[in-house]
Amino acid sequence: MSQSLRELAKRRGLFFISQGSYGGSAGFYTFGPVGNEVKNNIVEEWRDVFVRGLGNMEIDAPTVMKEDVFQASGHVDTFDDMILECPNCGRSHRGDHLVEDETELEEAEGLPTEKIEELVEENDIGCPSCGEALAGVEVSEFNLMFDTDIGPGDSETGYLRPETAQGIFVDFPRLKQYARNQLPFGVAQVGRGYRNEISPRGGLSRVREFTMAELEQFILEGQKPELSEVEDVTLRILSREMQENGETPADMTPVEAVEDGVVESEWIAYFLGRAQTFYERIGIHPGRLRFRQHQADELSHYASDCWDAETDVGSEGRDWLEVTGFAFRGCYDLKKHHEHSESDYTVFREFDEPREVEEISVDPDMSWLGPELGDGAEKAVERLQELAESEPERFEKQSSVEIENGSGTMGIPVDKTGFSRETVEKNGEHVLPQVVEPSFGIGRLVYSVLTHSLDTDEVDGEERTLLRLPSEVAPADVAVLPLMDRDGLTDRAREVASTLRNKGLEVRFDSSGSIGRRYRRMDEIGVPLCVTVDYGTLGEEEETEKNTVTLRDRDTTEQERTDISELADRLA
Ligand code: AMP
Repeated sequence: MSQSLRELAKRRGLFFISQGSYGGSAGFYTFGPVGNEVKNNIVEEWRDVFVRGLGNMEIDAPTVMKEDVFQASGHVDTFDDMILECPNCGRSHRGDHLVEDETELEEAEGLPTEKIEELVEENDIGCPSCGEALAGVEVSEFNLMFDTDIGPGDSETGYLRPETAQGIFVDFPRLKQYARNQLPFGVAQVGRGYRNEISPRGGLSRVREFTMAELEQFILEGQKPELSEVEDVTLRILSREMQENGETPADMTPVEAVEDGVVESEWIAYFLGRAQTFYERIGIHPGRLRFRQHQADELSHYASDCWDAETDVGSEGRDWLEVTGFAFRGCYDLKKHHEHSESDYTVFREFDEPREVEEISVDPDMSWLGPELGDGAEKAVERLQELAESEPERFEKQSSVEIENGSGTMGIPVDKTGFSRETVEKNGEHVLPQVVEPSFGIGRLVYSVLTHSLDTDEVDGEERTLLRLPSEVAPADVAVLPLMDRDGLTDRAREVASTLRNKGLEVRFDSSGSIGRRYRRMDEIGVPLCVTVDYGTLGEEEETEKNTVTLRDRDTTEQERTDISELADRLA
């Protein structure tokens, strides 16, 4: 993070390391009064585009969830980063980041731990904290989830969710009913995610608790988005192939990206288009934004394809930060919960016309299987059904079939299996929907927007710092300022502020210090307009019917007089 943004953030209450009185805690930040406004405004813009704009549902699930959920989702086993502990100072570091920082390699996340060990040794990489050589130090996997106990005594293990998505997936059996089983439909969630990052860094860019805005779009194979809705949008695309060939990103529309085979999933292309519009609305500079496809070894355990939106947050040159992941999760999550829980995660998909379908089933003779297998009978029935579906000819060509029964194999006479293969007419089938997920990190967006809008210029011979925030995300619509804190100016200004608030505008009021200083303060937090109540206002009111104030523009500093009665409309 640039020094100037760091200072501004602290000075003006954008964000700061939390619990500073107790030495702070790495990776935990508080958004101050100004930063919180900007963050909330970004979330509202997101809702506008991805929830209301697309007619999607939004839910609010718990942040603590049972271990079973994360066992099923694969997070307990695979949500890991590579850790490397310095034998001298004891500080922990992320193995892949050390390699990325110290070598030409741009992406080391997908490499195996042994490869990282090799690279650390080959490149003579030292501990970033104390300089000790790290060659020969073991690189191991570290699970990023915070665990906790649910309840006292014989408590159950729970985890703070590392993504909001599982709260949506796990309750899909209910959500599909609310959507009346009509796909495609989307379910969104905005809330905290927790990741016990090995080495938090870069201010808001890698923290341990952060706000995510995620959309899970449930689709059936073959269903397509309305790509024409994003046909005017230009994306800066850096595909896997372009990265491999050392090419620079290319500009194309979502439609072109699909037609040229650069983006395989039409849904991903559609969301990239929607996101581009959203980013521009909140103040991400289009020239400092790109969409980069993951390399095959970079993909998360649940994704078959993924694109990251990355913003340049460097003060000089390029320093790309992932702000959103657009993942094609396929049936992965719903299938896992379907298999691990008691619920049905499928939806019924009607065929266009009834179809002749071959149905293979078993209906074993339990009066024979029960005494033969005892407790194992139920499992044996499952195995028979699986075998009948995968190798029906065995039941047709042999007099007995062999299945595993735990202690070995056993033969079951086919006439005791109740095997049948018949052709039936069906109107549809139960299928697991696929999922496409755009997942936004709100803190990283705030950071990118602030970085891209931070500017300096010269006003009246003095350097001025300002945030050129779009009015949609600025911490207030307008500031009302009395020229001086005397002669009734403050009271009149309060009245003006109150009138504007009653009209639904977000108004800041400041009467302390010189007017010049107050303009600078408002410029620094990005308030787009200042209304100043001055002696002109009071004089006019006494002498004429007129009733004007000055309206000052943040970006140009130009001022003009405006009638108070027209103010609210003009500001809106
Ligand atoms: P992921 O599920 O890893 O693709 O993360 C989704 C989004 O969350 C990313 O695109 C980031 O914007 C954000 N994110 C992930 N990890 C962190 C973190 N440690 N700190 C802040 N934001 C994060």
